[in-house]
Amino acid sequence: MPWPLTATQQALRETASSFAMSELTAIAEECDREAAIPSELIERFHATGLPTLFLESGQDDDFVTNACIVAEELSYACAALASYLMLPVFFNRIVLSYLKGDDRAAFLSACLASPVVTSFAASEARAGSDMLALETSATKTATGYRLTGRKEYSSNLRQAQYVIVVARTAASGERASDALSWFLVPTDSPGLRLGERWPTFGLRAIDVSPVELTDVEVPSSRLLGEPGRGLVMMGHSLAQSRTGIAALGVGVARRARDLVIEHGRRRQLYGDKLNRMQDYRFRTADMEKNIAAARALIWVAARATDRGEDAGKESSIAKLFASEMVMNVTTAASGMFGSMGYTGQTQVEKLVRDARHVGIVEGTDPTHKEIIFANMLRRGAY
Ligand SMILES: Cc1cc2nc3c(=O)[nH]c(=O)nc-3n(C[C@H](O)[C@H](O)[C@H](O)COP(=O)(O)OP(=O)(O)OC[C@H]3O[C@@H](n4cnc5c(N)ncnc54)[C@H](O)[C@@H]3O)c2cc1C
Repeated sequence: MPWPLTATQQALRETASSFAMSELTAIAEECDREAAIPSELIERFHATGLPTLFLESGQDDDFVTNACIVAEELSYACAALASYLMLPVFFNRIVLSYLKGDDRAAFLSACLASPVVTSFAASEARAGSDMLALETSATKTATGYRLTGRKEYSSNLRQAQYVIVVARTAASGERASDALSWFLVPTDSPGLRLGERWPTFGLRAIDVSPVELTDVEVPSSRLLGEPGRGLVMMGHSLAQSRTGIAALGVGVARRARDLVIEHGRRRQLYGDKLNRMQDYRFRTADMEKNIAAARALIWVAARATDRGEDAGKESSIAKLFASEMVMNVTTAASGMFGSMGYTGQTQVEKLVRDARHVGIVEGTDPTHKEIIFANMLRRGAY
């Protein structure tokens, strides 16, 4: 750890790790094979008290740091199940930070009583990295907004009760930075229809699907934040969940490293243990170095966010580094297992597949390079 965990953080880590080992490890392979998640899993996670702990913001609650600690532990067992359980933690917290009055009270009590899955729908077929190309429209009505358009990739949609939809409140095609707004939409709203789930080569267990919106009515109270602030909110709010995605990458890389250590102890080559070969030891040491660096960058970003500082640059650095790190570690691990690492006889093959999403979800690597560069010009370099 870059700095010592507080007693609360240690307890969180132990609870998350024990849940991961007892509930996730046993089902991870089957969930991956069947592309499905048992419906009771989220209830069990709710029963640990972890998701409700993160709902309310308090002074010094260290939300992002603590959520990253939990995400990493869950991801050590399975990145797909960790995404399924932790993405709603980030999104529900975001919703609560923007909802007001009775809507907020009702949402909070629903989240406290039982699991609430909220998805996030920004990406469209022609607007992934380029958010200002987004076409889903939100037209003002007498009571709120009417949403129409199609979102291409949203995680957990089939399990979700709510989806945060990013839509255009400005004229079609306008590329101004105040063109977008966020809306909280119940998934059973008239006019909302889920498309066919995408098959994915990694994170197979979670559902990534399109969603069609046809004249979906949303009351003004379900507009999250100020109209036209959607792009800025992507920067601020997603700095939190983006750091969480980086933490998922560290969990995956740690698992690959541990499998490599175990394999090096058991596998015999040229009459000796594989880990007697210097190259094997050095490659394992490199993994450890890069995992430690990724975690330190995540903690720097998380701490800055928790302190209310502008952490756009730090969270992009953490996500970019974790994305490259987890691909390097899992690819190296696959090679160190020889053919076994390619054939699916070990967990390493799944880890390579799961690692890939870290560099795509919540912004591809070049997007984060752009953010880092823009921040260097604006805030200066280190
Ligand atoms: C498993 C999974 C889960 C997802 N979950 C969600 C979700 O819950 N909600 C949601 O809204 N979206 C989700 N997405 C979508 C994801 O966020 C987008 O796919 C991602 O932002 C990239 O957008 P794109 O696919 O349109 O790629 P494009 O934007 O078309 O990118 C194409 C290529 O251009 C590169 N590129 C981008 N910008 C630059 C640049 N400035 N310079 C040079 N090259 C560049 C990219 O790296 C990529 O190689 C998910 C995707 C996956 C795979």
